[in-house]
Amino acid sequence: MIYLDHAATTPLAEQAAASMQPYFSKDYANASAFYEFGEKSREAVEHARGIIARSLRANPKEIYFTAGGSESDNWALKGTAEAYKQYGRHIITTQIEHHAVLNTCHYLEKQGYEVTYLPVDAQGFVRLPELEKAIRPDTILISVMFANNEIGTMEPIAQIGRIARRHSIIFHTDAVQAYAQVPVDVNFYHIDLLSASGHKFYGPKGTGFLYIRDGVRTASFIHGGGQEMGRRAGTENVPGIAGIGAAAELAMRKMSERIYRETRLRDYLIHEIASRIPGAWLNGDRYARLPNNVNFSFEGIEGETLLLLLDAKDICASAASACSTGSAEPSHVLTAIGRDEKLAFGSLRMTLGEATTAEDVRTAADAVAESVKLLREVAEYEQQ
Ligand SMILES: *Cc1c(COP(=O)(O)O)cnc(C)c1O
Repeated sequence: MIYLDHAATTPLAEQAAASMQPYFSKDYANASAFYEFGEKSREAVEHARGIIARSLRANPKEIYFTAGGSESDNWALKGTAEAYKQYGRHIITTQIEHHAVLNTCHYLEKQGYEVTYLPVDAQGFVRLPELEKAIRPDTILISVMFANNEIGTMEPIAQIGRIARRHSIIFHTDAVQAYAQVPVDVNFYHIDLLSASGHKFYGPKGTGFLYIRDGVRTASFIHGGGQEMGRRAGTENVPGIAGIGAAAELAMRKMSERIYRETRLRDYLIHEIASRIPGAWLNGDRYARLPNNVNFSFEGIEGETLLLLLDAKDICASAASACSTGSAEPSHVLTAIGRDEKLAFGSLRMTLGEATTAEDVRTAADAVAESVKLLREVAEYEQQ
């Protein structure tokens, strides 16, 4: 099997699995317990918090563990909207956000907030002058993703952060695809809130964190006990937290080597597809894109049918984001970058990972070229 869907999820790293193991049955104490037995669990949680804080150049007190990227996005948006509502009820985001942000914004609109969904250019970049123009006196939050999960485009986060800071507006970024893949420094980028998810970087599913800059107010999202400095209740998921910490540590250690390796494989795959298949359109920017993301639209092809042919060859890829498959709507991201309906339905995303080899990429390129050719021949035959 060739797995090229790392943007959907990644396998748990062996080191992360090993670091979780003691906390299931042996050191199972509640991390908030008073007695000495609880110390080990507490230490595991604080050790992971320290690793993640260092990876962002943040303070450990600014890291809050959650149950994943969706929860972090929900908390960041709803919590900020609630805490700052006396200053205004206007939020700015983009048309290409993940549904965890978009659907939270739709919810907030029903609660009386106003949301501006910024368009993006043909590469998927937010246009900074349009962002400036959208800012109003009652704007309380700007939320722009660090890197897009479908097309891999990396947004101009440093400039967006600077604009937000100049206007004293809270800046949140959904960094679920970028964190642990590329360097993320919350001070360099002027980030106030940042969402990440463990299972996107070889950590366990159902784990994540929200970075909240010291001094930024965010209403509590899960009410209950006093865990996570009183801001996120619930008994700590100690094995999960140990796992996400270990995965973050591993990712930081391997980052430059991974970027180098995956960028080369990515560029090779892009070149093979673009040079061998006529009518292939690269989605997303050619250069400012995630090191592991390849996304094409093919003229005259149904993405879903192409996926079936690839699946028959034991290649796992994706047509749009995993969450929107099964719906008959074209991808909102491909629509936002101006792809017409046909090209939006004819897309293929391949996201590389740690175990992807040059051989895998060659096999995948051959399979895509053959399958596209076959599907076009069938379509031509049907038209006669
Ligand atoms: C996967 C993903 C999420 C959701 O994260 P979960 O941990 O699966 O809830 C949010 N945003 C982006 C950009 C993602 O890729």
